[in-house]
Amino acid sequence: MADGRNERPKTLVRRAALREGVSRPVVTPIQPSVVYASPSIQTLHAQYEGGAHGYTYAREGHPNAELLARKIDQLEGAEGGLVLGSGMAAVSATILGLLGQGDHILGGNQLYGRSLRLMHQDLARFGIATSVADPTDMEAMRAALTPETKMILVEAISNPTLRVADMVGIVALAREAGVMLAVDNTFTTPLAYKPLEAGADIVIHSVTKLLAGHSDVTLGYVAARNPDQMRAIYDFAVTVGMTPAPQECWLAERGLYTFPLRFAQAQANAAALADWLAAHPAVARVLYPGRADHPDHDKAHDLTDGAYGNMVSFELVDATEAAADRLVQGAPDLPFAPTLGDVGTTLSHPASSSHRGLSPDARAALGISDGFFRVSVGIEPIELLIADFDAGLAAI
Ligand SMILES: *Cc1c(COP(=O)(O)O)cnc(C)c1O
Repeated sequence: MADGRNERPKTLVRRAALREGVSRPVVTPIQPSVVYASPSIQTLHAQYEGGAHGYTYAREGHPNAELLARKIDQLEGAEGGLVLGSGMAAVSATILGLLGQGDHILGGNQLYGRSLRLMHQDLARFGIATSVADPTDMEAMRAALTPETKMILVEAISNPTLRVADMVGIVALAREAGVMLAVDNTFTTPLAYKPLEAGADIVIHSVTKLLAGHSDVTLGYVAARNPDQMRAIYDFAVTVGMTPAPQECWLAERGLYTFPLRFAQAQANAAALADWLAAHPAVARVLYPGRADHPDHDKAHDLTDGAYGNMVSFELVDATEAAADRLVQGAPDLPFAPTLGDVGTTLSHPASSSHRGLSPDARAALGISDGFFRVSVGIEPIELLIADFDAGLAAI
């Protein structure tokens, strides 16, 4: 096939290369192959020993996952990061790949729901002790460390109350105590905060959210600064099979082309929507880190250099489930869906979704009433968005 012409296949079951020509495809190809053939045993030895680059088996790595990982590496200032089948796979591989029996992990008390479940229910079965503390309170974080603590896991901006962790203090605490610091950067994104550059050891993403950006893939990413730690995470993920699908990696990589544009537009919309909501008589309070009335506004400014993100939370004056339901039904064009980072705006009601497992008292302690909403602001024209919220609030 040196002239690029396909030979007539000898049989239907024999694979043949695609015909190539003098032109090339512009779009990234999808490589669905699970297995890779090496030309010789010598070459395979070289592949395993690092002397030659070549894939072997897709669970161990494949081109679409690698391309996606290199792009997120670039965003995060990381090297050799890994794409996995979900954000929770990234969280799990980080903890289970690096910690063992007798170790302790300290988590932020407002981590993503499933990360909290891992902390509260699953890790104990593997002999890993856990505790959680408020990452905005350095006294509480310091007091929660034990001699066995090996890792701190936090999110820089919490869901859904958008509190800003004391990242400078936490980086210093982790250094001083000699423990690994892992940051789930899903909410903040590397356009607002780069954990590795700020001194964290590990950065984690649910690529499902803003990075992929279209609510049509479930993927995760993790990168560690220390190559030995990265290798341990990789080996655990490959062993237990947290493999990402090539098609999904391809979709996420396509999503990344517009990530900075989507982020800028969604953030501008979020700032405008937050101000509009704050002036509405049916709204009791608005939480947006970019507003001067946010309790962590100054900290948010220092952390993100003014990139306050696309997430806005607010509470109704009539903080009842009935009023909240009228808003949901009065704004049918705003999908009522407990996710974030989609191109379109989505509305979530933590009391009935992400935080339904908590007692009303525990929710109240976090400031989450039945009239509390979290908005993941998208890129639609702001006038349309305001018209939708206007209709929803009028329906109350
Ligand atoms: C969604 C999310 C996760 C989990 O990611 P999946 O891709 O759904 O597994 C983890 N952390 C944060 C902050 C998230 O928002």
